[in-house]
Parts: sequence; C-alpha cells; structure tokens
Amino acid sequence: MADMTDTAVPAPTYPVPMSLSPSRVSSFTSCPMQFRFSSIQKLPEPPGVATTKGTIGHRALELLFVRRAADRTPEALAADMATALDEYRTHPDYVGLRLEGTAVDEFDRNCHALVDKYFAMEDPTAVREIGLELWMEASVGHLTLRGIIDRLELDDDGELVVTDYKTGRAPSGNFEQKSLAGVHFYSFLCEAVFGKRPAKIRLMYLASGETIETVPSAQSVKFITTRTTAVWSAVERACTTGDFRPRKSKLCDWCSFQQWCPEFGGDPSLAASEAVAAYDELLATPVAVSTA
Ligand code: SF4
Repeated sequence: MADMTDTAVPAPTYPVPMSLSPSRVSSFTSCPMQFRFSSIQKLPEPPGVATTKGTIGHRALELLFVRRAADRTPEALAADMATALDEYRTHPDYVGLRLEGTAVDEFDRNCHALVDKYFAMEDPTAVREIGLELWMEASVGHLTLRGIIDRLELDDDGELVVTDYKTGRAPSGNFEQKSLAGVHFYSFLCEAVFGKRPAKIRLMYLASGETIETVPSAQSVKFITTRTTAVWSAVERACTTGDFRPRKSKLCDWCSFQQWCPEFGGDPSLAASEAVAAYDELLATPVAVSTA
C-alpha cells in the first residue's frame, strides 16, 4: 500500500512580513486570502476611481499645507487640486483608469468637488502643522509597525493632534470605533517616536463634511499593540502553513482577486501570473489625454 505522505503535495509557504501597517492589519482580519494576494504576493491591482480620487485629494491638501498659513485660501486649494491632478496624469493609478474624453472632465470635476466642504470643516490658516504625510515606524518585539500620518499638528496647548483625511463615506455609529482603530495605531506610533501620546485624533470625512474625534488613552494604545501582535502571530502561522482562508463578505464585491478566489470557483495558484499579465495589458496602451 502506498504511503500517502510520499505523494502529499506540501502547501506552499511564504516569507513572513516583518512590518505591518493599519491597512495590512485590516486586510488580514477582513480576508486572509486577499491579504495573501495583495500583501504577501504583492500582486498588482487595477486602480479604482475612488481610490485614485482619494490619493489626489490627499495630495492637494498636502500642497495646501505647504503654503504659508495666510495663503491657504479656497482659490489656493483649487489651484493645488489642479496641480495634484497634473502630477497624476502619467501615474499608473490614473492611466489604469482608462479615462477618455468627457470621463476625464468628469473625474477632474469630482476631484475638485471632493474638497468643496473642506473650508466649512476647519480654518487651515489656524492649523499649526508640524508634519505632513509623515512616515513613522516603531518596533514591537521583532515586528515593525509603520504608517503614514496625513497631518500632525499642535493644538493651542502645544499638544499633538493627529488628523487623517478620509475620502470615503463616514461610518455609521456601529462602525465608528472600527474606523478609529487605524488612527489609534498612529497614536501608538506618536507615543513610540515622540514619547508623547496625542491629545486628540481626528478623522475628516471630506465628501460629507463630517469630523469624528476621539481622545486616545493608555488603554486604547495598549489595545493596538496587543491586537497587532495577535494579528502578526496569525500572519506568521498562515505564511508557515500556507493556509490563508478566504472570508466571504460584502467586500468581495470590490475584491480585485475574485476570479482567483476558491469561494468563487477560482484557482489561487494562477493569480501570480495572470494578475501581472492583466495589469501589464491594462497599462500597455496609452489613452488619449484631454488637452481641452
Ligand atoms: S473574493 Fe472575497 S473571499 Fe475571495 S479573496 Fe476576495 S475578499 Fe476574500
């Protein structure tokens, strides 16, 4: 009788990542298989209109805050949005949208509209920023936690305030705390890097004009390290065993890897070659850029 262990095909193993960001933690907890595709195998994904619009919106606000405080006017923000759009015209995240003709104008209009409510949310001339698009990292054991803070500023008492721009919809009550988890992560980074916990964390939902604020506590910061360490252990286990389970949810509707997902009858082993080929093809033919 044949020994089954002789013929068993071992599950593929993957290199264990040594760093985690809030989006990676969230990706693994939402669906380990999607995390494998995007964060372990690093397969390219076709860009989405909402994500690209969000990136351009972030850039426009960064440009606004590079200006002297007194120069941060609505006209300046409109000019900064135009600059940000120009910067992205040749970026793969823009080119991959395949926008042509009136779709280019509509995209531009929507980007400008994204910051329509901004000046009703705060007065940028009064903001005392000390860092923009700030890369931060800190060690927890042998793991590195890293992230980018959109804006770090000082309040009237000289305390740190973390501001995160959001370009999607504001969460309903039940999901509000979940949406703050990523920002508590930044609070942990501030404490680790500056030795000081921020006095406040703000999420600015640009499209709706809503702002959610919270005060981080020693407990909320500790929760982040505990949770992240637990997630990392699970990531390490999955990389060693090759067992990244798909987790079906509403997010599947927006998953770029659905065609290779076993939950949808796909074969994950084909994702590496096919996703790269599809992405290369998407970017291969230049689209006509409107000069109107
Ligand atoms: S389609 Fe759904 S279950 Fe499959 S990898 Fe994507 S998010 Fe996960």
